[in-house]
Amino acid sequence: MLNVNEIFRSIQGEGKTAGKEVIFIRLSGCNLHCIWCDTPYCWNWNSTSFSHPVKFDVQNELHQMSIDSILDTLLSLDAQCKQVVITGGEPLLQMKELELLCTRLVDSGYGIEIETNGTISPTSQLMLLVEQFNCSPKLKHSQNDMRVANRPEVLKHFAQRPNVFFKFVIANEDDIPEVLDLVKTNGIMQHQVYLMPEGQTKEEQELKEQQVRSLCEKHSFNFSPRLHITELGGGRGI
Ligand code: SF4
Repeated sequence: MLNVNEIFRSIQGEGKTAGKEVIFIRLSGCNLHCIWCDTPYCWNWNSTSFSHPVKFDVQNELHQMSIDSILDTLLSLDAQCKQVVITGGEPLLQMKELELLCTRLVDSGYGIEIETNGTISPTSQLMLLVEQFNCSPKLKHSQNDMRVANRPEVLKHFAQRPNVFFKFVIANEDDIPEVLDLVKTNGIMQHQVYLMPEGQTKEEQELKEQQVRSLCEKHSFNFSPRLHITELGGGRGI
């Protein structure tokens, strides 16, 4: 059984595969608590002490689902779509069950991307099953305890893999020294890096897009749009 928040059909909004039609499987629970998190409903339950201001009822947001039931849901959403993105929360918190799910998905002809915050190393078995990892290390502006959020041994492990790409949310130019330090310290290659504008609305994205594009050019990084916000309006199930 896996703790699932939601399963929905959409497009990949960010990173190397932005624009691709996929089905998202959002797992519940996160080991970080970013102050600007746009999916607090999958981890920020009522009565927790996390400083993120918007709380949710765990009974409504955490669904225990068997692998058979997850596969049935994928088929009912779109039997033709054979690409899934497993996201969260932090999916790697459920490593053992995730391995079993990914094994069944691969056996059923699915390609898999996993989104992770870069604090937990996947098992070698999971590395073999997944086509692409999208690793999104959190910067200081996330207001996490950086002793938990910055795990060099995990980032170094990911950086050595050709199928891992790193996404950084950029609020402004002041974030760049922190990104450059993470890239240098952990052996991340520039072509693995995508910078994305911070912002929850289309207007906020457009305001910062040119600045982030210029920073990408200056440092030889890739620019990533956030299509789920700019094209689909953002929000739950998108
Ligand atoms: S790591 Fe991701 S899911 Fe977890 S709190 Fe941060 S933004 Fe939200």
